[in-house]
Order: sequence, then structure tokens, then C-alpha cells
Amino acid sequence: MKITSIRTKLYQWNGPVKTADTIFATPVSLLPFQKDSQAAYRFFSWLVVEIETDNNLVGIGNAGLCPDVTKLIIDSKLKGLLIGEDPTNTELLYEKMYRSSVAFGRKGAVMAAISALDIALWDIKGLAAKQPVFKLLGGRTKEYIPTYYSRLYTRNLESLQKEAEDFKSQGFTGMKLRCGYPLTDGMEGLKKNVEMVKVVRDAVGDDVEIMLEAYMGFNFPYAKKLLKALEPFNLRWAEELLLPDEIHLFSKLKKHTSIPLSGGEHEYTRFGFHDLIQSNALDIFQFDTNRVGGFTEAQKICTMAQMHGIEVIPHGGQMHNLHVVMSSFASPMAEYFPQTEIEVGNEMFWYIFDGEAIAENGKLQLDDNKPGVGLTLKTKNIEHFKIIE
Ligand SMILES: [Mg+2]
Repeated sequence: MKITSIRTKLYQWNGPVKTADTIFATPVSLLPFQKDSQAAYRFFSWLVVEIETDNNLVGIGNAGLCPDVTKLIIDSKLKGLLIGEDPTNTELLYEKMYRSSVAFGRKGAVMAAISALDIALWDIKGLAAKQPVFKLLGGRTKEYIPTYYSRLYTRNLESLQKEAEDFKSQGFTGMKLRCGYPLTDGMEGLKKNVEMVKVVRDAVGDDVEIMLEAYMGFNFPYAKKLLKALEPFNLRWAEELLLPDEIHLFSKLKKHTSIPLSGGEHEYTRFGFHDLIQSNALDIFQFDTNRVGGFTEAQKICTMAQMHGIEVIPHGGQMHNLHVVMSSFASPMAEYFPQTEIEVGNEMFWYIFDGEAIAENGKLQLDDNKPGVGLTLKTKNIEHFKIIE
């Protein structure tokens, strides 16, 4: 089998966008003079890559991170490395892409591009073997995939309470809210962030796990104070309190709190996660398979995490992460972004692909008989997208 062609498609959303009060901390929100500190973190496009073989198989990969740049990297730097190659040599092809781009790559958009291609290669591998990808990775390690509901964007306490009650009634036993108040709101904002957690805890009781997302928005002194104030609420974890490069500060923070610290959504490759392990920086890894280096690299990081007693709970749901969760003992559950109106961009994959697993009673199931990743591109109801090839 040989790769004959590679197509990239940028899906740009031109449809309606819900503009609710989706305020949360970001890396920009602690800077002065910022009018819209979330602007850099809203995204309304998605990259799809299709790899075609000489026996007419088509593997699909995707990237949500910086899709326009990712497209350019695939088209100009990576595509040529794969044409004519055997797509089942995933280990070799990953190394070829990584080593050919290492001078300008290693993290960020280049790794998203490599990840998208790696996912498409594994899709082909599954289609050729007539097996779902999780069966090729290690098979079924759990009867179903438990999920936690990832939303609760509002800072309106009444809406927050209603949303939390609603998710609980849908059968979710875990849910994540965002820090609605950035560092620049000072101690008053910190109290309000804690108040948001309290409202959710009071709404759902003690048997539901609550996670708090800080989206890289704080610094060490603030994070330390926030964690101390959050001790009574039995959080499952506090997520991305600091910048991804502040590994040494995560290690320091961990000594001050009993709340598990999570991160890695913006970390890349086995090398990045090796550094996190060496520094004893995090309790939970949250890579996204479509950023970290695809299935090839995700599988290795799961093994490393398992060796060190670190849980893997990938970022963002989506089929490429679900295959990893299903096939690894390191991973107890998945994130679940429900299908909603387009609001921050995380929801967009529901509008592009058919085949995404839908949670029932808070649980996801993968089909033992559906080969590959299990996704196809929607052909209907895509009129709100401008597709750039
Ligand atoms: Mg996150």
C-alpha cells in the first residue's frame, strides 16, 4: 500500500455564534490594557486532512489548534515527506516528520500538523485491518468510557447552578467549570472564583466530581492563594493554573496543595511530558492526541504516565482521544464537550464530522466493529462553512 495524495481542507465557520457571557481567565488576561483578553483563544475554524492510498482508502485526520497555519505547514513542509510511503509504517513516518521539522517545530502548530497526519495514517491502518484504532493500540481496557461534562462557562451564579443541576440530571458524575474572574480582578475576583465553585458544589452535592479550569491565566502567588481557598471543596483537579512553560512553578505549587494539579493540554511530544515527569509537576496529563504527536506519541506518553502514577485524561473528547482512553489503563475517563451552538470553537467538530460518540448517562461507547477512527466528513448541513482547499 502506498500514499498517493494528501488533501488539506480549512473549515471556516461563517454561521451564527452565540455571544453569551463566556468570560474566563487566559494567559493574556493578567496583562494591563487588554480590551478583549479572550480574542486570541476564540477560534472558528478547523483543519481536516485526508490521506489517500493506491488501494482507494482515505484516512482522515484533524487539527483544531491554529488551523490556518497548520494547513500551510502540511502543504508546504510535511506532505512531500509522505507521498509514495507505506501508510502503515506509522512509527517510521512519525520520526521522519518530527526529525525533518525539528529545527522549526517541536511544539505548537508544527506538532498539530504532524498529529493530524499521524491520526489519518492510523485511520488508514484501521481501515486496512478492518479494526477500530483502539484495537490496534491495545484493545479494550474498559467496558465503557466514563466522561465529565465540560462547560459551565457562565459567571452568572443562578445560571451556573441551573446548568450544574441539569448536567447531573443527565447522568454526568463529573463536571468542569471555568475561572470566570481573571487575575486583574484581584482578591475580589479570587473570592468570586471560589464562590463559583461553591455554587456548583452546593448544586450537585458531594458525589459529583468538580474540576476547575484556569486556562493558563494565573501566576504563582495568585494560584497558591486560590488553591488554599479551594481546599474545602474537594476538587477532582485544578487545571492549567500557570503557563505551560512554568514547569518549575507547578512543582513548587504542588507542595502547597492537596488538590491534584492537571495540565499538558498545551504540551507536546514524549519529550515535553518527560520534563513534566522529571519535575514532578502534575498529577494528571491532559494532552490532546491531535496536538501531542498523534496516536504514535500519545501511546508512549500513556506508558510513561502509567509508570509514574499519573492519570491521562485527554483534552477535548473527540474520537482520536477516545481511542486512546479506551486502550490505556493510564486513562480513567474522557472530557466531553457537548454539541451546542457555536460559542468558543470547541464545539465545532460536531458540525464537521459524522461518527463522534455521543454520551448516554455520562458514558461513551466505542464500536468494536467500526474500523479506523470511525469518522466521516459531513456532506449535509455544512452550508455555514467556507471550505478552503
Ligand atoms: Mg483545558
